[in-house]
Amino acid sequence: DAAIRFENVTFHYDESRPILKGVDFEVPAGKTVAIVGPSGAGKSTISRLLFRFYDVTGGRVTIDGQDVRDVTQASLREAIGMVPQDTVLFNESIAYNIRYGRVNATDAEIREAARMAQIHDFIETLPEGFATEVGERGLKLSGGEKQRVAIARTILKAPPVLILDEATSALDTHTEREIQSALDHVSQNRTTLVIAHRLSTVVNAHQIIVLEGGRIAERGTHSELLEAN
Ligand code: ADP
Ligand code: ADP
Repeated sequence: DAAIRFENVTFHYDESRPILKGVDFEVPAGKTVAIVGPSGAGKSTISRLLFRFYDVTGGRVTIDGQDVRDVTQASLREAIGMVPQDTVLFNESIAYNIRYGRVNATDAEIREAARMAQIHDFIETLPEGFATEVGERGLKLSGGEKQRVAIARTILKAPPVLILDEATSALDTHTEREIQSALDHVSQNRTTLVIAHRLSTVVNAHQIIVLEGGRIAERGTHSELLEAN
């Protein structure tokens, strides 16, 4: 299992405006840590640094003790699974879209991943907006269902490190609860960084980090943060 560590990380996209100002935290191996905070706080920037879409301006980011600057982007993509806010699907069956997580997966493994993500009822259908050669129309998937396709994909891929981006998720409570239980499956015993907008979605995190204006304003468990506020 991999531990993620941010050591006094500073970052700016352009020099006139610092975005992260000495961010220091770790996700212990196999644990879930959540980053919450208002829009613009720098939450997504943290995941971009982890993927090395950008390099830190100061400090360092390590996975399993290894500076991400010493790891190729191909192996980072291999090691890190991402469940994004918005999932773009291929013009293929849901099963095909799930298989994308690991191309040599068996049909039984795909069905099992779909079952855990609670989308097994419609894995043979196409997403909306696409049509088959015989003119059959695709099924309209809600945002929550699309997210579950991404979750099933990630269950198949089984990466050692997982990033869940729930930051702007405006799902209704019912959908949110269903997704949450699917996500719990994926994040169990896996080093997981959750990016969330609301404290209510990250009750079970090992630690919650409150990011404000590029600095860590507070950190603690869910109940510690509730008591403090
Ligand atoms: P959050 O995920 O907390 O909403 P972000 O990490 O997306 O915040 O953004 C933090 C700040 O960085 C915001 O002020 C945003 O406008 C700015 N920012 C994000 N991406 C870029 C970019 N590619 N170039 C310049 N500024 C950016
Ligand atoms: P429902 O699942 O309740 O049928 P949707 O999920 O399609 O409805 O959409 C509810 C709202 O949430 C829409 O405004 C949609 O754009 C937004 N939304 C859906 N999924 C996500 C997501 N993963 N991240 C951010 N916003 C989302």
